[in-house]
Amino acid sequence: MKLYAIIGNPVAHSKSPLIHNSAYKALGWSSTCYTRILLENEKDLKSKIFELGLAGANITVPYKEEAFRICDETDEMAAKIGAVNTIVVSGGKLKGYNTDAPGFIKAALGFSYESVLILGAGGTARALAFALQDKNVVIANRSAQKLDFFRNAGFKCATFDNIDGKFDLIVNSTSAGLKDDILPMNEQKLIKLLQNSSGAIDCIYGKTTPFLNIAKNCNVRTQDGANMLLEQAFFAFEYFFEGNHFDKAKVHNSMHVSIFVI
Ligand code: NDP
Repeated sequence: MKLYAIIGNPVAHSKSPLIHNSAYKALGWSSTCYTRILLENEKDLKSKIFELGLAGANITVPYKEEAFRICDETDEMAAKIGAVNTIVVSGGKLKGYNTDAPGFIKAALGFSYESVLILGAGGTARALAFALQDKNVVIANRSAQKLDFFRNAGFKCATFDNIDGKFDLIVNSTSAGLKDDILPMNEQKLIKLLQNSSGAIDCIYGKTTPFLNIAKNCNVRTQDGANMLLEQAFFAFEYFFEGNHFDKAKVHNSMHVSIFVI
């Protein structure tokens, strides 16, 4: 039996077990299984992975930075971001990747943009900022403190109080709207920004957030985080089973069905 898992806190809401198990089922891999693990303390992350004999893991809030620290090796993108959401266990070593970054880029392929405003400065914003580095990117956040990381990495930054300008695409990577029905920033300011844009993506999935509702009212193209969820999971699957032969289209289709149909 090969065991994989999503590790985080909270983790009960995660669709990752459904997504990955759907792919195993579609491929007829009856001895591969994906579960969820609620971890209370980040210091236990590494020991938990080995204790359960996991072949790989996805790491979610709030442990992506700790996942980066415990890896023996990471790919270039994860090293830049300083956060890992996919760990492959091999020969007693942990190799870390960040699939949120390429997952977002693939999910946003339907949008046309050169300038992007990222709302939020958490782990997801870091992944998006580096993924979009070849565009004109501005990161805006509620509080100034978390912007230091981005400034030091050479990104343009602003707080919600002083953000202004014209952006083709606006991405909500804050958790405003996740468990509540609030906007990430002042409504009038957001409307002005959206009226000057052509697209809006919310990283939150499974609901139409107030951010997306306002964007729809401003007649811009909108998308929630479900496509990003799908694509990051598909990239993670490819890392987990690198070197194995499998039907990629079958995996992607079964993952798609598990997110958008089930
Ligand atoms: P973090 O906790 O690292 O960062 C949260 C960010 O949201 C911070 O910038 C914080 O600002 C801001 N924030 C929180 N509450 C509010 C609020 N009420 N108003 C304004 N800003 C607020 O989270 P992550 O970056 O890991 O995740 C962010 C979101 O992205 C989550 O909703 C998560 O579910 C989603 N996500 C979706 C994925 C997908 O595949 N679709 C993948 C990964 C994440 P401050 O610094 O001021 O506290």
